[in-house]
Amino acid sequence: MTASTVRRASAGLVPMLVASAAGLAVCVWLAVHTGSSVLLGYLGGPIALAAAVLGCWKIGSNIRVDRPVRSFWRSMSHAGVLLFIGQCVSLSLSNNNAGLSLVAAAPNVLGIVWVVGAMARLPLGDSSAAGWARILLDFVTVCVAGALVFWYVVLSYAPPGTDQDTMIAAGTVGVLGLLALAIIGKAAVIPHPPVDSLSLRILSVAPIVGAITAVLLIAGTDGPRLAISVLTGPLVALSFTVAAWRQRHVLARPAAEPARHHRTMWGLIPMLASVATAAMVISVSAREMNGRERAVIIGAVLIVVCVVARQLLGLRENKRLLTGLRTQQVQLERLAMTDPLTGLANRTRFGSALEERLASHRPATVLLIDIDDFKMINDSMGPALGDQLLYQVAQRLRNNSATASLSARLGGDEFAVLLDDEEIDVAEDAAGRIQRALAEPFKVGEERLLAHASIGVAIAGAGDGADEVLRNADIAMYAAKEGGKAAWVRFEPRMRQDVVNHARLGSELHNAIIRNELFLLYQPVFDIVTGRLHGAEALVRWKHPVRGLVSPGDFVPVAERSGLIVRLGSWVLREACRQLSVWKAEHGPGAIKAINVNVAVRQLREPGFVDEVAAVLAEYDLLPGNLVIEITESSVADGRQVRETLQALHEMGIRLALDDFGTGQSSLSLLRAFPVDVLKLDKSFVDGIADGEDRGRLAIAAAVAQLAEYLQLSAVAEGIESEAQLDRLRDMGYRLGQGFFMAKPLPPDEAGALMAADPVTVNN
Ligand code: C2E
Ligand code: MG
Ligand code: MG
Repeated sequence: MTASTVRRASAGLVPMLVASAAGLAVCVWLAVHTGSSVLLGYLGGPIALAAAVLGCWKIGSNIRVDRPVRSFWRSMSHAGVLLFIGQCVSLSLSNNNAGLSLVAAAPNVLGIVWVVGAMARLPLGDSSAAGWARILLDFVTVCVAGALVFWYVVLSYAPPGTDQDTMIAAGTVGVLGLLALAIIGKAAVIPHPPVDSLSLRILSVAPIVGAITAVLLIAGTDGPRLAISVLTGPLVALSFTVAAWRQRHVLARPAAEPARHHRTMWGLIPMLASVATAAMVISVSAREMNGRERAVIIGAVLIVVCVVARQLLGLRENKRLLTGLRTQQVQLERLAMTDPLTGLANRTRFGSALEERLASHRPATVLLIDIDDFKMINDSMGPALGDQLLYQVAQRLRNNSATASLSARLGGDEFAVLLDDEEIDVAEDAAGRIQRALAEPFKVGEERLLAHASIGVAIAGAGDGADEVLRNADIAMYAAKEGGKAAWVRFEPRMRQDVVNHARLGSELHNAIIRNELFLLYQPVFDIVTGRLHGAEALVRWKHPVRGLVSPGDFVPVAERSGLIVRLGSWVLREACRQLSVWKAEHGPGAIKAINVNVAVRQLREPGFVDEVAAVLAEYDLLPGNLVIEITESSVADGRQVRETLQALHEMGIRLALDDFGTGQSSLSLLRAFPVDVLKLDKSFVDGIADGEDRGRLAIAAAVAQLAEYLQLSAVAEGIESEAQLDRLRDMGYRLGQGFFMAKPLPPDEAGALMAADPVTVNN
């Protein structure tokens, strides 16, 4: 044990021992004294109280103790000083047996008032005005009842000739004692009293002793009167010192104990006071009315008034609590039904509103709205700005919805509007209005953003449930996304079949990979100036055992949605690299220099993608220059992880081609932000280029060629189907092209035959 722990363990022990010793000495004195001088007996009080003052002061002057606790114990030490003075006065008067004078009682009364004051400054529970009023009424009840008991019961036992001073002093001490007891009862039961609750209970010994003293001084015989007179000081001091010791013990404990809710009998004191008064009234009613009896009746009336007032306060309080509870309940219900970010209805509220409408056979149409490429916006701008965008979308939805409709945020970037209508025109009108409202640029942070939405429209049919209508709207929304986004699509029953087919296709595709039903075709890329073979793009095919040849346009999106594209893409990459190494072995320098492989964004998001590519190249003894990875514009804008992957591939020496160039949304800014090497002009720009009718597309096709030249990138024109297109593209400055006019996607041996017939030279 260290010195400090010894000190802590013994903290407050000395005053307690001194008070106990004094009390013990007084008891011994009482047992042996012979009736001569009583001075010796009265000596114990001042000594014990001096120890009590010390014990309380120690806590009251410790600056590490919390202020309320400190000030309580300081007040207790002050009370101790007053009681000490009272004991000294008693000592000085001990040998003249003149009863209890007011002068002698004054310091004691003041001491008790001081204790009551210290207790009253502690939190006594409810600190509202009503709470204080209730406490006050309780205390008035206790004081009145205490005074009545003293007046009517105790004084009836007073020996004849008891002087008035003694009666007043004893009565005051007794009533104050009861009051202190009632206050302790309140202070000790609150959940987290600043002063230790057990210490407070121990302190209650003092007022009890005070009250007993008051009774015995009036109604006791000589023996008990003497005993209580000499023992009051030591007993009160003992309760002070033990309570102080306990408090120091609690303060020294490292962790606070979990708060316990204490119940105490003292809380019943106001009730006991009322019962005692009732008993007195009954006793009085059998007697003849004179001054004393009348006082009891008046006191009882006062107590009844207090009790009634307390009840009324309680009733008012209960009503207030009930109203508060109801308001809270309404608020909670509203919160549970509201989306916290946008303030729109949430999914639960939307679902139940729809359900309600369908159950009462009222017309309903659901518009499901999904922000296009929101993930990309969120990733690149950060979630805080993403939230701002969602908030503004919600505002526009609210402002552009008819009054009879309900707008909701179902989650993420998905919103919904419920129309109380089933007319196609109304639904189309609403969808168009929302689309136009969202087409205006959004001001998010410092940026102005364009955000489109895909909208699925589902009109509830007879017997449809809420889930079904929502699912239909969802299917239509996906159809809108697949159709190129930024559009609205109305649900048609065949779409559900498409979804089923897709789901079936997904599970079959899973087996296709295992059963080797996939294979690659290679579409040659030509130098359209010299007409010679330049490279080839690997294009996946699926030979379905029942459906026959399935086009990637049908199963690649399914694979992308299910995540199967990662496995499928790995297989394509290996197979294409393997094929290139075979061609290299067969045709040596006449083989194409590089193979183009399409890679989906889901693959780029895989953390190990770069390592996988490096491993495959190494396995087939290829160099990074032998691989061109084709990606779409939307994948480039997908987020940080994808951008880093692309950067790493570029740094390895792999070339990156932007596929379907010109169809995405932010082509030009991407060219600066990302290390692109090849632009593949989308087939849609090549279509109709020859007749020169579509001047817009023609202009874009020409601009892409120039852009590539300025940026020193290679430009490849895709989907060339005629000589006229070829000539026109060549004139525009395109050097490379692929299309059915030159060659369709070919099996490996046919593509190899091209290499044998027209070996690739270093320059083309
Ligand atoms: P893409 O990468 O833009 O590929 C070019 C598509 O245009 C190919 O269709 C090709 O057969 C077709 N095409 C080429 N020249 C002509 C032409 O003159 N006329 C017409 N009408 N079409 C032409 P395919 O093979 O059906 O592939 C469609 C899309 O599927 C590809 O577009 C690509 O985005 C995706 N895809 C194909 N294979 C893979 C793959 O292995 N992985 C991934 N992730 N996607 C692939
Ligand atoms: Mg491609
Ligand atoms: Mg393409």
